[in-house]
Amino acid sequence: MHLASRVGRIDASGIRKIFDLAKSLKDPINLSIGQPDFDVSPAVKERAVAAIHAGRNTYTQTQGIPELREQIATEEKAFSGRAYAPDEILVTSGVSGGLFLGLMALVDDGDEVIIPDPYFVMYKHLVNLFGGTPVYLDTYASNFGIDAQALEKLITPKTRVLLLNSPANPTGRILPRSELEAIAQVCAKHGITIISDEIYRHFSYVPMTSMAEIYPQTLVLVGHSKSYGMTGWRLGYACGPAPVIQAMTKVQQYSFVCAPSVTQYAALACPTVDLGPNITAYRAKRDLMVGILSQRFELAPPDGAFYLWAKAPAGFTGTTFVQKAIANNCLIIPGNVFSERDTHFRICYTVPDERLRQGAELLVRLAEEGP
Ligand code: PMP
Repeated sequence: MHLASRVGRIDASGIRKIFDLAKSLKDPINLSIGQPDFDVSPAVKERAVAAIHAGRNTYTQTQGIPELREQIATEEKAFSGRAYAPDEILVTSGVSGGLFLGLMALVDDGDEVIIPDPYFVMYKHLVNLFGGTPVYLDTYASNFGIDAQALEKLITPKTRVLLLNSPANPTGRILPRSELEAIAQVCAKHGITIISDEIYRHFSYVPMTSMAEIYPQTLVLVGHSKSYGMTGWRLGYACGPAPVIQAMTKVQQYSFVCAPSVTQYAALACPTVDLGPNITAYRAKRDLMVGILSQRFELAPPDGAFYLWAKAPAGFTGTTFVQKAIANNCLIIPGNVFSERDTHFRICYTVPDERLRQGAELLVRLAEEGP
């Protein structure tokens, strides 16, 4: 059967292989998941149920319900100091929806998008799907931060977008304000739009600054999935300059139509949720894992999100170390799923402490055994 060539440009094999393996293991120590282990808070669930009973089951405005956009404007003002007008905010189906619409609106055939490597898997595939060219900014030598001079060297007349993610998946790295300022200077000089994926912004164990605070030409993407344990509810939002938000809204009109209505109403209860206990718990899990793993592994600075990015021990590639871990019933993800290199692996620590300890001790033992 004939398929459009654009689907041939994307490839789902890397991460799917790991999830297929997960199915074949019996009760593995699963450090591969990539989502929180807490449930949606009762107040938000009740709002969702109430919304269903009140008949909030129809399409909403394409850009999202006005009450939620007002709430978003208030939250963004508090977080980044930016005052967004209503036409600078779009409610999306998760940050994935925001990435899809944002790249669709900003990237033409042949345009270049700079993606710091390692990266969240979706970025390169969406850029390829939309006919753009991913250009990788290797961050291994800068301890997974961004060196503004290295960034500038990659810029060509075709560069349109820099795709940032801080706190980052898979590294956990947070870009400090000074680095953001240096990046903004380079982007301003060359007229480049920054997409700033801040889905993990609340999981910050060191100070976190939003790029939106520093650089006006930022499209900031924020989501409810991770902060509120709502990954299946598909909610997020985009804030940025009116022309890009309007272009994204136009595409949403003919694709997603709107973000799920019930979820939008339920999210009105999100400001009543205290995120503190979950963040404190994840910080403690991070400390537990770093405490055990740093004896044997070189780790990226574990500043935020809920991941650790560790270098495979001597004698292993990311893939061969992950194969050994899987043979010992522990699931982790090889670095080449998130990178053009295959030297690291990713751990997600949103699992109960006892499992974490078992997993970390096992990985240390496997590293000591060697290939
Ligand atoms: N960005 C990053 C960096 C992520 O890790 C994820 C989820 N794994 C997403 C975006 C997408 O999240 P969602 O669509 O659920 O908001």
